[in-house]
Amino acid sequence: MPQTDPVYDMIILGSGPAGLTAAIYTARSNFNPLVISGLQPGGQLTTTTEVDNFPGFSQGIDGPRLMQEMEDQARRFGTRFDTSEISRVDLTGTPLRLWAGDQELRCRTLIVATGASPRMLGLPAEKELYGRGVSVCATCDGFFYKEKEVVVVGGGDTAIEEASFLARFASKVTVVHRRDTLRATAPLVARAEANERIDFRWDSVVTAILSDPQKGVSGVTLRHLPSGKEEEFPCDGLFVAIGHVPNTALFKGQLDMDEDGYLVTRNGTETNIPGVFAAGDVQDRHFRQAITAAGTGCMAAIQAERYFEALND
Ligand code: NAP
Repeated sequence: MPQTDPVYDMIILGSGPAGLTAAIYTARSNFNPLVISGLQPGGQLTTTTEVDNFPGFSQGIDGPRLMQEMEDQARRFGTRFDTSEISRVDLTGTPLRLWAGDQELRCRTLIVATGASPRMLGLPAEKELYGRGVSVCATCDGFFYKEKEVVVVGGGDTAIEEASFLARFASKVTVVHRRDTLRATAPLVARAEANERIDFRWDSVVTAILSDPQKGVSGVTLRHLPSGKEEEFPCDGLFVAIGHVPNTALFKGQLDMDEDGYLVTRNGTETNIPGVFAAGDVQDRHFRQAITAAGTGCMAAIQAERYFEALND
């Protein structure tokens, strides 16, 4: 942890597209921002193989490569990086205060770009079998399921995209959805429905994960909601794709949030606390794209710079 500045002009929490874009802009304006890169440096894109829709890459680009480019760009203008985990914040006074363990960091402006994490089913065996058949990332783990059978839970774009990706490897992919209509967009649905390796179980939920000590996941228990009937369904892997939860626990009681924990922003990226701005998935329940996260990161940078200048005038 750099110790030289008693009070940082700017700290950015998170190193996904929002945090790194904020860093590129503010570093280029000579702010010398400190990026606390968080538990998943590079954010969710580091778990994606191919990003086809980020403007500027006509042939697509790997998620990890895109994030490395953004980090290099931020470093080129003098951004400093730190991998500490922030465990507590006090945003009630000036300067703003953050703690990494018992080390205190103080700053004049803060950009919160802590992103969102995959929502889990909340089943007892889910944590224990994570990495042993339970996964949230087909692009990371799909390769291990060559000619195996997997279950994907969810009915949104992520679930259907994961199912199509997994069908490249697995002999059979069963999408389990709690309703009888998918939420996912039409082109993704059409592609999945046309794939003979993909099956659907409608109106159904996973109520238990079955395992064997050698192999890890060996199946799931499915409940058909209208009839209440339960059955054991053998499979080698369970991919959970039921949306995300914003990473905002740190700010509870200090920053305004909606009922699902997303930070509430106004006039662009302002939070309820002067000098604290929020960008990316942590404040966006609707779009959740790399480019929109980068866009709000840019907005937060410009608004934080203006705030800082006004403070000094
Ligand atoms: P989402 O759209 O919120 O979908 C979550 C899905 O999980 C829904 O079908 C939901 O069921 C189901 N679900 C939620 N909680 C559940 C639970 N406890 N048990 C069982 N099922 C549960 O999330 P997402 O698919 O991650 O997509 C998020 C955003 O990213 C969307 O805006 C999406 O368009 C975007 N995205 C886009 C792309 C792309 O364009 N290629 C790819 C991925 C994601 P209900 O339908 O019943 O609510």
